[in-house]
Amino acid sequence: MKKWLLLFAASNLGIILVLLAIGLFFGIFLAAKETENQMNASVGSGCVAVASETLDEASLTTFLEKRGVFRGKASVFLSLSKQYNVDPTLVVAIAMHETGNGTSSMVVNMNNPGGLMGDGPGFQFSTLDKGIEAMIKNLSKLYISQGLLTPEQIQPKYAPIGAANDAMGSNKEWLNGVNAFIKQLGGLGSCASGGTSGTGKYIIPVDNPIVSSGFVNRINPVTGVNENHKGLDFAQPTGSDIKAADDGKVVVVMKPGVSGSGFGGYGFVTLIEHGKNKEWTLYGHQSEILVKVGQEVKKGQVIGKVGSTGQSTGPHLHFEIRKDKMGGQIDPKPALGLK
Ligand SMILES: [Zn+2]
Repeated sequence: MKKWLLLFAASNLGIILVLLAIGLFFGIFLAAKETENQMNASVGSGCVAVASETLDEASLTTFLEKRGVFRGKASVFLSLSKQYNVDPTLVVAIAMHETGNGTSSMVVNMNNPGGLMGDGPGFQFSTLDKGIEAMIKNLSKLYISQGLLTPEQIQPKYAPIGAANDAMGSNKEWLNGVNAFIKQLGGLGSCASGGTSGTGKYIIPVDNPIVSSGFVNRINPVTGVNENHKGLDFAQPTGSDIKAADDGKVVVVMKPGVSGSGFGGYGFVTLIEHGKNKEWTLYGHQSEILVKVGQEVKKGQVIGKVGSTGQSTGPHLHFEIRKDKMGGQIDPKPALGLK
């Protein structure tokens, strides 16, 4: 450490200690808020392609058994998709379509599963794993991170109809082909449907609820900016149980919510659809998620643990009730019987 830095640190020690003391005193009430800007954004309804837990290794292994060179590659697809935060279902579906189920000469001879072309006849990779990684990296960098999340959004750039390198005219089949594989694989991360479950009455999703921030317009405590806060914050110690507010089906799990997906800023986030009253409840900033997309949950079932992931300044649960899967938040207090 440089000498000036030590001096600087020492001269600020007193101030830091005082701030720490104040922080500890008010901690549970003031710290347990988040600075969600993206979190207030509503985006259009629809399926979102983001890293999720829809695909488990056993079912993907079975799926890949008769897919040419991809046999035995389930763990490669899953671990690399997780690493680059891309929905593995999307990756596998594109790879199957681009290679005719792992049999095209481009993937057999060149280890190129994504149809990555460049200017020439297509890139060659030394191993199939490297080719899979290049494909996922390309999807992450040029598509997902640019807000192109669904096959419909990805196709015009990935497989433009009428492109010079599409001599066979197969790009017009791309969307239908990829979507058919996505369907076979059980759908994208947030495309699960919620059914009709639910009692229509919610319980408070934490024990000993302390509302540290309500559903109000407020001045952001960190930035000073006036903003909406479209949920309730329950200040809770890290690791406290989070319970499903009603029976329902898990339709979104992200670890963490991806910027541009409509769930950015929420950290580890779960969305549950309640079919009875056609509403959704959202649980943000978790430290741990205990459910998977597509799973049916019971009212009161522990679905995760409180944390401070995403845009959060202290451990708390950010809880929303939504009239629309991708927005339409209402004040949860009346529905929870809170004043
Ligand atoms: Zn909040």
